[in-house]
Amino acid sequence: MKPSLEHCFKLMLLLLALGGVTMHVPDADVLSSLGALRLDGHFSFHDTSAMARDFGNRCSLLPAAVLHPGSVSDIATTLRHVFSLGERSPLTVAARGHGHSLMGQSQAAGGIVVRMESLRGSDRLQVVHGGMSPFVDAPGGELWINVLHETLKHGLAPKSWTDYLHLTVGGTLSNAGVSGQAFRHGPQVSNVNQLEIVTGRGDVVTCSPEENSDLFYAALGGLGQFGIITRARIALEPAPKMVRWIRVLYSDFASFTEDQEMLIMAENTFDYIEGFVIINRTGILNNWRTSFKPQDPVQASRFQPDGRVLYCLELTKNFNSDEADIMEQEVTALLSRLRYIRSTLFHTDVTYLEFLDRVHTSEVKLRAQGLWEVPHPWLNLLIPRSSIQRFAKEVFGKILKDSNNGPILLYPVNKSKWDNRTSVVIPDEEIFYLVGFLSSAPSLSGHGSVAHAMNLNNQIVEFCEEADIGMKQYLAPYTTQQQWKAHFGARWETFERRKHTYDPLAILAPGQKIFPKASLPLSL
Ligand code: FAD
Repeated sequence: MKPSLEHCFKLMLLLLALGGVTMHVPDADVLSSLGALRLDGHFSFHDTSAMARDFGNRCSLLPAAVLHPGSVSDIATTLRHVFSLGERSPLTVAARGHGHSLMGQSQAAGGIVVRMESLRGSDRLQVVHGGMSPFVDAPGGELWINVLHETLKHGLAPKSWTDYLHLTVGGTLSNAGVSGQAFRHGPQVSNVNQLEIVTGRGDVVTCSPEENSDLFYAALGGLGQFGIITRARIALEPAPKMVRWIRVLYSDFASFTEDQEMLIMAENTFDYIEGFVIINRTGILNNWRTSFKPQDPVQASRFQPDGRVLYCLELTKNFNSDEADIMEQEVTALLSRLRYIRSTLFHTDVTYLEFLDRVHTSEVKLRAQGLWEVPHPWLNLLIPRSSIQRFAKEVFGKILKDSNNGPILLYPVNKSKWDNRTSVVIPDEEIFYLVGFLSSAPSLSGHGSVAHAMNLNNQIVEFCEEADIGMKQYLAPYTTQQQWKAHFGARWETFERRKHTYDPLAILAPGQKIFPKASLPLSL
């Protein structure tokens, strides 16, 4: 027997009280009014705890209701209804992609979580060849891996990616979507032609650079503040069949970053350029041997790292099987211009799909060891080029001298590929670096704990502030409007104006903690 609405409501109050969460909870009448809405899908008022979790695993806020939409109009009906309840209603609405946020950004304490994945499926993905400008229309709740599978059937693929593809279209477009292709194509938000959005007033709006452009740019990188993205038109390009995937090591940070910068600025270059930092790890080349081939096995086996910090440059070159010879020549020419440690050149050839879905392979292994669903106190920073050497000296030379608990990504991108009309906040310099400290915290105490990782994160952020590094956080977990204002700087006014236009009651994405419900001055 399903528990009654009243029972769920009491249970939620009890759980919130036990959890020590202070918040407004909608009363039973409000919840009944949701249950009475005529929808293609349905609301559930019980078993909502799965929507109170995310990848970060450090924040759990129970929603009052979960909307499983059967159509875009269900989302519009729900938002119109919540809007009609007015500013005194505490009800908020969070779109949830795949819940891969780090700190409750897709949660809604006592509010409604819209399970965007209910509206996905290959029948909702439409690939249009469109001559020179092919595109795919994808639901906001679709996973990028499914977008890839579908477009590959047409020999096409999106141009710009994230490292991990089990994220949703609406989720990454609400942040930026950055990976090793961003130097050429810009982040994912720079590769969208059109969006369909349900605003905080419940209006369904189609927008693009030509039509309702203010909402279009607001929503890209908009942290879910202006509307729920229900469809995105994503630019495609011909997909290569194969990828030459290369790794080389450096012990000198300056050579590593100069080479990275030279490669992202070069006319003829690699198709993907990233890098990561390796601290105090032994046997790194041995680990690579399971999936990569050394160029010179004898020299590789003799390699002895002379420092505790190494820097790995990771590159790919796309090719089709009839172009293998040309690819080899191009790769050889490009590598000859780099200053990596010669004995550390490793490579492998994999399909384009295998390369793009590479993090999922690690996910499967980590899940098997119980190491995926652990807390993830990640810190993602954007550091201007002019500060990266100072940053590295302090962070890799001092703060992280003993340990870190997860990969550290470090690669440059160029600002010219980021559209400054979107809501994404980046440093004010032509080249800036994405530096991701992707820590896992499997233990309750010691080096593998959340407390240890947070301590290191805080030291890094404090250093950036004290040394005036010009850093901006990506996927920022700020908790006060003051912090958000500082983050947006001169762009705050536009962000606030857009909020007032598209979500004046501050119903949407409460987990970002930017606008408490009904906090906007009504006269704005
Ligand atoms: P959610 O976490 O569910 O939502 C994120 C935010 O967007 C929330 O505020 C939510 O309310 C809002 N939202 C969700 N869907 C919509 C929608 N349709 N319309 C409007 N708002 C919406 N990011 C990168 O840029 N590059 C990477 O390489 C990268 N790698 C990652 C690897 C892993 C293993 C993980 C866990 C994350 C990675 N990310 C990366 C971060 C990723 O962009 C964020 O986790 C993002 O939150 C997407 O996750 P999601 O689709 O599950 O969205």
